Amino acid sequence: MPIRPYTEAQVKGRRVLVRADLNVPLSGGAVSDRTRIRAVVPTLRHLVDQGARVVVVSHLGRPKGEPDPALSLRPVAAALGEELGTEVAFVADTVGDEARAAAEGLADGQVLVLENLRFDPREKKNDAEFSKALAALAEVYVCDAFGTMHRAHASVVGVTEHLDSYAGALVAREVEAMGRLVEDPPRPYVALLGGAKVSDKVPLIENLQAKVDRFLIGGAMAFCFLKARGVEVGKSLVEESAVETAGELLATLGEKLMLPSDVVIAPGFDADDQGQVVGVDAIPADMAGFDVGPATVAAFGAEIRGAGAVLWNGPMGVFEKPGFAAGTRGVGEALAESEAFSVVGGGDSAAAAAQFGLSDRMSHVSTGGGASLEFMSGAKLPGIAALGG
Ligand code: ADP
Ligand code: MG
Repeated sequence: MPIRPYTEAQVKGRRVLVRADLNVPLSGGAVSDRTRIRAVVPTLRHLVDQGARVVVVSHLGRPKGEPDPALSLRPVAAALGEELGTEVAFVADTVGDEARAAAEGLADGQVLVLENLRFDPREKKNDAEFSKALAALAEVYVCDAFGTMHRAHASVVGVTEHLDSYAGALVAREVEAMGRLVEDPPRPYVALLGGAKVSDKVPLIENLQAKVDRFLIGGAMAFCFLKARGVEVGKSLVEESAVETAGELLATLGEKLMLPSDVVIAPGFDADDQGQVVGVDAIPADMAGFDVGPATVAAFGAEIRGAGAVLWNGPMGVFEKPGFAAGTRGVGEALAESEAFSVVGGGDSAAAAAQFGLSDRMSHVSTGGGASLEFMSGAKLPGIAALGG
């Protein structure tokens, strides 16, 4: 999948429009997690060092196609300035006169952040005029917004019709790491899946089944499969609409599929100090499973240690609660210790890896949630196709 990087000559002294994914969590008006900001810093620093005049655009949250002060990129621009170690200008405009004047006023090596693209309804519609107006802000386009590349929006797709377009370092890294799993995974290739968004992930399983040698399934997702197998799962979280498909997958995956043999049960989400380990066939009707048990961690851990490649998407339990975190921590540690080529995808899975101090020991932690799932499923992402990939 050849997506083009840019050369020094293509950006030096030129205005470069960078589509970043600065869709960070905010709390009380401040950025509460800078992971996505840090992820784009290498590309921005490189452009600054090359003497480019950098115009950064992004979306933030889900404004309804109109300005929403709570979703302004202003505090994000300030945080970006701190991470970059250089002054970052901000204007509260996207493609209007003010944005244009600020972009035209940039000197070599200066960085400007524009306002939330989704304040304009034309961004999500991939509107031709909006795309053209965005392109008019710069002379070259660099896409480094991996988490948004599954969206055919103006700043991801439309704009590439008007400017020479290149991939940034983050996009190149994501595509290389995940491309290896899609195209030529070291074997055995193990998919470790969990979490709660089961219906989002069932297509992933369907698309991966021909390639993956073993599926290890934990988290709330496991209860869908256990229920389909006729196991009494009590009050455990089950996405009912996915049970039927889970039943079909039980049959087609056969020996490839490993489900938990034991679980940590409790009367409720907040009762994480009352967890009890039971076999999966002994969940009382008034209890719910919130984590996988130690026998499951050992069994999954053995598969992970023997793997050539592991895709991890979805925590094994409610890892946000200390009493339900051991399963996710246990498989995460097995993965960190293994020699396998390890890719972590999914926002909560990445947060779990970070929480347990394991991120640096993974081969790759993706910054994309939905985008990585679609990519891993073998889909061609509109943003990557627009870059010629
Ligand atoms: P990701 O963001 O990594 O793709 P998901 O969004 O699918 O993962 O799921 C993450 C959420 O699933 C976490 O907030 C976690 O608390 C929840 N979860 C995991 N296991 C269970 C369970 N057994 N019961 C209820 N929630 C669970
Ligand atoms: Mg999630």
